Amino acid sequence: MSHIFPRHTRQLPPMAVSGQGCYLIDETGKQYLDASGGAAVSCLGHGDREVIEAVKGQLDQLAFAHTGFFTSKPAEDLADILIANAPAGLDRVYLVSGGSEATEAAIKLARQYWVEKGEPQRGRVIARKQSYHGNTIGALSAGGNEWRRAQFGPLLLDMSHIDPCYEYRLRQPGESAEEYGRRAADALEAELLRVGPETVMAFMAEPVVGATAGALTPAPGYFKRIREICDRYGVLLILDEVMCGMGRTGTLFACEQDGVAPDIACIAKGLGAGYQPIGAMLCSSEIYDALVNGSGFFQHGHTYMGHPSAAAGGRAVVGAILGRDLLPRVKTQGEALADRLADRFGQHAHVGDLRGRGLFRGIELVEDRETKAPFDPAKGLAGKIKKAAFEAGLICYPMSGTIDGRQGDHVLLAPPFIIEDTQLDELIDKLDGAISKALAAA
Ligand code: PLP
Repeated sequence: MSHIFPRHTRQLPPMAVSGQGCYLIDETGKQYLDASGGAAVSCLGHGDREVIEAVKGQLDQLAFAHTGFFTSKPAEDLADILIANAPAGLDRVYLVSGGSEATEAAIKLARQYWVEKGEPQRGRVIARKQSYHGNTIGALSAGGNEWRRAQFGPLLLDMSHIDPCYEYRLRQPGESAEEYGRRAADALEAELLRVGPETVMAFMAEPVVGATAGALTPAPGYFKRIREICDRYGVLLILDEVMCGMGRTGTLFACEQDGVAPDIACIAKGLGAGYQPIGAMLCSSEIYDALVNGSGFFQHGHTYMGHPSAAAGGRAVVGAILGRDLLPRVKTQGEALADRLADRFGQHAHVGDLRGRGLFRGIELVEDRETKAPFDPAKGLAGKIKKAAFEAGLICYPMSGTIDGRQGDHVLLAPPFIIEDTQLDELIDKLDGAISKALAAA
């Protein structure tokens, strides 16, 4: 009997034994095309020798030195390369072990910043419905995904959740994309005025929403307007790039394409590319200096933060993304994937929307294309797609809609940046088969 505590407690999954390039192999020898990088993690694919050697070399040199006593060369090197390539204004890097630790740290840093500045009444975070910012209790409070929050209320933070920027569902007839982007962003101002801007510490959002909304891209101008509103009311902008960052959308940070820089950014997943558990929170010197000039330390920390071998892995991954010219490749292969999705699913009776950027793509499935009515969640369409795809040797990331009954089931695709055209063909064929099988069973 297994003693492992699996995520899905009714069924132990098969045992993965090796990985090569875009494929994972289980103990029976079955191959799976990893079309979602697990959960947008494996951006370099599996078995990358350069990253593996970097981690091994660091383990030989120094495995662990507690950050309460030491910094380390790999941590310094990783911070340097991140800041050299980060949006303007981000100056400091706080290294942690994953996405939830990064978002949790971001919320606590925003809170401490306002306390140090003498405005302790700023305790509220505004985020968006349909968002996911992690599974620790603070990050979960910030997230707006009802399904993930449901069993854990009452949650911790003073929170507001405004509507996401969701053109397919919320843009009105006759409204241009730009007009909609502005209107969607103005919901933040309305909420600030409703709750009192002096009570709000930060607005938090994913530039491209991943797991909970299927590569939902912002309308043009949306984030620029959000930035303006944050500045007008002195509210910090936290961008959660845990899924969409590290090149996934074709630029190292997704927000570069929206022409905005946050006060705090969170990254993880692709930063370790699956080779090491690592995440990071980046912040401006304005925030950092408030701590330097105030209490002199951040009231937060984790034993494994800044771990040398994790940092060495992260440094090698960022070096590979930039040094192997993978960002332009994400754009070309992203277009190739988008074209294939449009060819195969553009006229599909149950595909309402195809969206995304780079190699971060989403398909929203609906019962009725005309009315955009989603499938009854009780049909569990997304779960059926996941199962059928897995049986066919395809790993993708489907989720059921959860918000006010107005989101359809969706499938998120986030393949490794090294994916070849023939593998894109394989992806489309297997996904098409899985969707057909699931629809027949739904
Ligand atoms: N933020 C976003 C946008 C995510 O997609 C995730 C994970 O899916 C997290 C935070 C949490 O990251 P982790 O699972 O590494 O804790």
